[in-house]
Amino acid sequence: MSSRACGTEATPSRRLAERQAPRPAPAGRDGGQARRSAVAAPAVVLVKNAPPFRMASRELQPESTIVTVGGVEIGAGRLVVMAGPCSVESRQQIRESARRVNAAGADMLRGGAYKPRTSPYDFQGLGRKALEWLAEASRESGLPVVTEVLSPEDVDLVADHADMLQVGARNMQNYALLRRLATAPKPVLLKRGPSATIQEWLLAAEYLLSGGNPQVVLCERGIRTFETATRNTLDLAGVALVKQLTHLPVIVDPSHGTGKRGLVAPASRAAVAVGADGLLIEVHPCPERALSDGEQSLDPGEFAELMQTLRPRAFAARA
Ligand code: PEP
Ligand code: MN
Repeated sequence: MSSRACGTEATPSRRLAERQAPRPAPAGRDGGQARRSAVAAPAVVLVKNAPPFRMASRELQPESTIVTVGGVEIGAGRLVVMAGPCSVESRQQIRESARRVNAAGADMLRGGAYKPRTSPYDFQGLGRKALEWLAEASRESGLPVVTEVLSPEDVDLVADHADMLQVGARNMQNYALLRRLATAPKPVLLKRGPSATIQEWLLAAEYLLSGGNPQVVLCERGIRTFETATRNTLDLAGVALVKQLTHLPVIVDPSHGTGKRGLVAPASRAAVAVGADGLLIEVHPCPERALSDGEQSLDPGEFAELMQTLRPRAFAARA
């Protein structure tokens, strides 16, 4: 984030510096100016304007948080790619997925065992069995696993099998689940709700942080707008803004964010350009046969191709 403070709006880091202020500025070329700005911003005004998401705010903690998942650092400056199928469908399918995304350079494996489906008649996931297959695929590939947990009662079971617990978009404001995850021993991937404002999203993160779990990663996965040509509207300006507002890592899910296989690569590159710390990408050994979200899933070859274009860009964006 730029530390430039132009015009009248102070950047979050500058406001913090002012709050901690009245240290005399060193005598030098602009020493007098620095002292003036410290005097001009009384602490009481800054506290009154403090954001409601206190622990998540960069005003409280200017330095970026790094969340470590099974040895993979998220938020440390290197793009982290989590990839795998929407749903775990069979032992063979998830093992094959892990092998292929690992070969392409993914850092983590994803796969749903408990699926939040809009229709109760759609595939709901294979539950405990799928968790066991996921853990096996993780051991074989060496990739840490992220998977969704739908209810507070399942948190212990899912935490026993996965390295990171995903709160799905539909559950972002499930406060019973958030409170339970605040005491879980695993990092949490908190997706943005389809109709949630950025403030609501950060306040959901605040439930986790204030409840005792500092290992929180945010995930933008598209919001509901008037537009129907894409499944959701991927709010990439929101990602850039959230990176300024919070010290937590922010990743982007271009699969649910677009709903279209052909948009996953350009949306991924755009996410990197706006400063995303990572990507969550759906990859299926055979998308045409997927039991959920096949139309937005890449096949392993497409994923490998995308990976080759992503990493150089991630470095360029941070240069
Ligand atoms: C998923 O990751 O497969 C999923 C259901 O995502 P979301 O909660 O963003 O819809
Ligand atoms: Mn999905």
